[in-house]
Amino acid sequence: MLGRDQFFDTNFMTEHFDLLCIGGGSGGVATANRAASHGARVCLVEAGRMGGTCVNVGCVPKKIMWTAGQIAHGLEDAAGYGFSVPEHSFDWHTIRSARDDYVRKLNGAYERYLGTNKVEIVRGHAKFVGRKIVDVGGRRISADHIVIAVGGHPARPNLPGAELGITSDGFFELESQPRRMAIVGAGYIAVEVAGLMQALGTRVTHFLRRDHFLHDFDTMLRDQLMAHMQADGVSFVTRFSIARVDQEKDGMYLTGYDDASHGPFDCVLWAIGRAPNTGSLELEATDVTVHRDGTIPVDAFQQTSVPGIYAVGDIIGHHELTPVAIAAGRRLADRIFGGQADRRLVYENVPTVVFSHPPIGTVGLSEEAAFARHGEEAKVYETGFTPMYHAFTKRQVRMSMKLVVVGAQEKVVGCHAIGPGSDEMLQGFAVAVKMGATKQDFDDTVAIHPTAAEEMVTMKTARPARATPEENRS
Ligand SMILES: Cc1cc2nc3c(=O)[nH]c(=O)nc-3n(C[C@H](O)[C@H](O)[C@H](O)COP(=O)(O)OP(=O)(O)OC[C@H]3O[C@@H](n4cnc5c(N)ncnc54)[C@H](O)[C@@H]3O)c2cc1C
Repeated sequence: MLGRDQFFDTNFMTEHFDLLCIGGGSGGVATANRAASHGARVCLVEAGRMGGTCVNVGCVPKKIMWTAGQIAHGLEDAAGYGFSVPEHSFDWHTIRSARDDYVRKLNGAYERYLGTNKVEIVRGHAKFVGRKIVDVGGRRISADHIVIAVGGHPARPNLPGAELGITSDGFFELESQPRRMAIVGAGYIAVEVAGLMQALGTRVTHFLRRDHFLHDFDTMLRDQLMAHMQADGVSFVTRFSIARVDQEKDGMYLTGYDDASHGPFDCVLWAIGRAPNTGSLELEATDVTVHRDGTIPVDAFQQTSVPGIYAVGDIIGHHELTPVAIAAGRRLADRIFGGQADRRLVYENVPTVVFSHPPIGTVGLSEEAAFARHGEEAKVYETGFTPMYHAFTKRQVRMSMKLVVVGAQEKVVGCHAIGPGSDEMLQGFAVAVKMGATKQDFDDTVAIHPTAAEEMVTMKTARPARATPEENRS
């Protein structure tokens, strides 16, 4: 057992802590702060900017750009409410520099808060040199407990010309707004960037390998979203497998294995997934098991294959969301240092929002997943309508909602919405689903009028849930 304070081994002075967090993103910072609040002596190592993906190249700058897109739509809609909006333009540079300033403030705030909690921050790249010892630029740090929260980075395809494209990290570095943009990928980052860029005036072409995107989402959500994006002017090229990218005089071209070529584009965005940052951790120095894809398997208490070494956040390879990383980290710290022996994150009924145009809010099982799990026990209530806001606008955005219920009690196991306000609406409904609410509980809740959300508690007729449509199966 190592002492709490510094000690010497043969070559290096090793500093010892109760807890070492590797990674200063959502998971690492949350774990460190919570552990410190329980009185633990904590060290956090960060190789890049404090706050990690979410703050620097994820949720935060993305949401700012999404809001800019919302405002662009609002300006379009204003005429319907009697406003004559003068000629206006959008200045990419203004929002980019305001956004970057805001992110820098957050970097500082994160750092200050860690300081207030007396977390020792070490700048640099951590790699394991022993089972519970890491090296950061020659500095040796050991701890009783080590949390790996190193997140991931955006992947690039391995094909000729791939380097001509950017990833989501590069998107936040764009100096000017591309006029014509190709977006490749079917996940939420692809649809979010496609929607906001189209709203801001870029001509977006979205490339998909299959006929649809957001594969694990309820079919209603993804079908409605694709229809909305098409109405906004996004072009889709489906069933397309890219063979190469070429830079020509007038822009970039994407050519498929079928030799079909699309372009020209000023910008190609690869949004094809993220790869874990385990590679350079040199985990071989430990006995931590690593999956082939680089993610780290953990048990229900975030522990890796080595007692005292844990992993939280994106690095575990599922539920890659900031609040999930935070919740897992805080609960782990509560368990280790706060005397709460059973505290852990249960990865069920995790609500999420896709900041598409319009947004999606969703929690629990999709209709298809409920049918697969519960068969004919699963039923669906659904509704579709034009929100009052759009009664006066040229741009028409319908709202769709669905409740998935199971059994005679009609327990609500899924709650899904797409349309204006769905992003803010879902958090409260997620509480109800988490608590095991039934359809009757929803019916017994007095509606708030006039809102779109009230439709969630006034749906009348159920139909049997259906299996995944044949064409949508992978
Ligand atoms: C474009 C985009 C939009 C997103 N939007 C949302 C959203 O709207 N809502 C949401 O909930 N989630 C969103 N996410 C996901 C969210 O950002 C991640 O789930 C979250 O940041 C994961 O936190 P983490 O702590 O696991 O990793 P990260 O936040 O990635 O932090 C890992 C940190 O570890 C550091 N690091 C890596 N290796 C080492 C090392 N060897 N030594 C020291 N430091 C190291 C990195 O520099 C990094 O700062 C988005 C992600 C992207 C890319």
